[in-house]
Amino acid sequence: MPDTIQEFITNKAYINGLWINSLSNKRYKILNPATGEFLAEVPSMSDADTEQAINAANAALPAWKQLTAKERSQLLRRWFDLIMQNQDALATLMTQEQGKPLAEAKGEIAYAASFVEWFAEEAKRIDGEVLPGHQPDKRILVLKQPVGVVAAITPWNFPSAMITRKAAPALAAGCTLVLKPAPQTPLSALALAKLAEQAGIPAGVFNVVTADTDDARLVGEVLTASPIIRKLSFTGSTPVGIHLMQASAPTLKKLSLELGGNAPFIVFDDADLDAAVEGAIISKYRNAGQTCVCANRIYVQAGVYDAFAEKFSAAVQKLKVGSGIESGVEIGPLIDQKAVEKVEAHLKDALDKGGKLLLGGKRHSLGASFFEPTVITGANQDMRVAREETFGPLAPLFSFKDEAEVIQLANATEYGLAAYFYARDLSRVWKVAEELEYGMVGINTGVISTEVAPFGGIKSSGLGREGSRHGIDEYLEMKYLCLSV
Ligand code: ADP
Repeated sequence: MPDTIQEFITNKAYINGLWINSLSNKRYKILNPATGEFLAEVPSMSDADTEQAINAANAALPAWKQLTAKERSQLLRRWFDLIMQNQDALATLMTQEQGKPLAEAKGEIAYAASFVEWFAEEAKRIDGEVLPGHQPDKRILVLKQPVGVVAAITPWNFPSAMITRKAAPALAAGCTLVLKPAPQTPLSALALAKLAEQAGIPAGVFNVVTADTDDARLVGEVLTASPIIRKLSFTGSTPVGIHLMQASAPTLKKLSLELGGNAPFIVFDDADLDAAVEGAIISKYRNAGQTCVCANRIYVQAGVYDAFAEKFSAAVQKLKVGSGIESGVEIGPLIDQKAVEKVEAHLKDALDKGGKLLLGGKRHSLGASFFEPTVITGANQDMRVAREETFGPLAPLFSFKDEAEVIQLANATEYGLAAYFYARDLSRVWKVAEELEYGMVGINTGVISTEVAPFGGIKSSGLGREGSRHGIDEYLEMKYLCLSV
């Protein structure tokens, strides 16, 4: 294990400014998915630990929300600076823990930090309103106040960015937070906590409760049942999101849910094909296909289908697979065997239903959870890949005739997170952009994530938006004052 990451490897969770074990002393192991190497053992916390974290966050709330916006902003800015100063070490840790190529991990650290910088700035712009009164003696004012104690539950595919995207606006707004990171990637979360502590963020404001897969459910139960937690922000699968929403109903929590996707990637016949290939590669194979905005279905207009398939598979063939820590590697391992089995099942189903294998198609000779980047042609709507998120390096190419057909196909899903299309005709661009039922649309680009824009989905892809100036509203309540003069 590289020396640079030693200072970020910890075997304790972080509650109330203290590095502690679980009350039961239970622990679990974190292994490198590329090599199986042991990285650390962290506490598997449960209900009593979670209560402790909630109480700590609640106790820290009054002082934190009473700081001036500028004071909170300066602490967040210091946290941002420390994250960027430690970018290389944090990225190396992430690659060891999660598997993504080092260049992508560095990119994620910068992306994660960008939310902290952005919301450090937004903290100072939580403006209220003064409205014209409805009667001659009335003056109406609107205050924006923090919702209170927030719970965040995050996934393993972006071990740092999914945390800061929630924690930074929460803290900027004056809320305190209890985070339960994904069981697979607690070390990246604890590294962020270490830097938050160094930045001077007070005890109890940012708490990290680590738990293995089983205990994660218990922690989730305590967080959702607690009347102290006023808001839950979750990123993960749709079934778990629905479960958490139901569990939050009795205490009527405010909710942000960033759930699954089934992104269509459409290539029209007037597209710049080389640009479309480049966009499709990054959209499909980033993080080995394990992002909720990854292209899941690639629709290509009939007249350019063969040309696109040829260029695309030539580009896929060049992708370098290997341990993310090696230089030049573009595709790392999948997170675990279950993930590999899902890709295999989707591939088998597609081939059984008439798909043709153009490239890849099996586990990689590197072993572990490596899978060959795979391309199939002749994909159709009966296949599982048309309906379910594959979350792996499998690209199915569908053919379509015209705009009306592809819009209908693209929208024929319960999901509505990200969609992409490549076209040059201006009226086509407008029309298709308006008709796609998605929260985000990439036009002539395969990368859409930035702290500047509102990220989020519609339909079964979730509720609320993260990032942008709108992101902080999710952590604020409006209070209306009616003043008679
Ligand atoms: P993924 O397939 O990305 O692991 P999940 O939705 O299963 O997606 O997990 C995302 C996050 O939700 C993880 O932190 C996981 O531990 C957590 N989680 C899963 N099930 C529950 C649950 N029943 N209650 C609370 N958290 C849960």
